[in-house]
Amino acid sequence: MKEFFLGLFLCAVIANPVVNPVVAPVYSVNPNDGAFEIALTFDDGCDDGEQVDALFNILDKYNAAATFFLIGEWAEQNPELVKKIAARGGEIASHAYTHKQLNFMSPEKIKEELTKSVSVLEKLTNQKITLFRSPYGEYKDKVLKSANELNLTSIKWNIDSYDWQSRSAHSIYSSIKKEITNGDIILMHLNGKNTLKALELLLKDLSAKNYKFLTVGDLISRGSINYKFECS
Ligand SMILES: [Zn+2]
Repeated sequence: MKEFFLGLFLCAVIANPVVNPVVAPVYSVNPNDGAFEIALTFDDGCDDGEQVDALFNILDKYNAAATFFLIGEWAEQNPELVKKIAARGGEIASHAYTHKQLNFMSPEKIKEELTKSVSVLEKLTNQKITLFRSPYGEYKDKVLKSANELNLTSIKWNIDSYDWQSRSAHSIYSSIKKEITNGDIILMHLNGKNTLKALELLLKDLSAKNYKFLTVGDLISRGSINYKFECS
């Protein structure tokens, strides 16, 4: 029973910056000067170039940067969309190769997933890929260690938009808005049905409150990082 409560405690606590990143993914950041800075992230992929353009038109309107965790296999099948995301200023990051659950794979297979995705994305974008988000945000130790050995920083999120569910734009926007603080990393999806409308509402609101929208790479260089132990 004692171990159970200890486990609960370890699962719940957000670790301080001295936690070894090999055993915990990045959840959010404490910007040094308390600046209102957050990172918008978009996962997976989509099959619609117009959706990508529309997304960047909204980002550009509010001078917002964003990070895209792309599936390697999807990237291989949609090279023009990947190039478009990079050309319009998106920070490109790995979301593994097949989007299968890495927690159930061997370390060798996990590394193959990561290496293949990084290779595809680097070839298409000429960007050095340094950030990784595991499909479904699952981070057993072997996933974190594999990423670390490949010099990839594992990124989670501290606000989930649940934009993959059938929710209205207003519902997505208001649930994010309710939780938002500086240093947050927000999870959204490239192919979310109401994601763009929610994004527009969010950026309009937060811009008026002087928030700045950085890539994850820039945000994690702006202050101490909040890691969190995983209990999967
Ligand atoms: Zn995903």
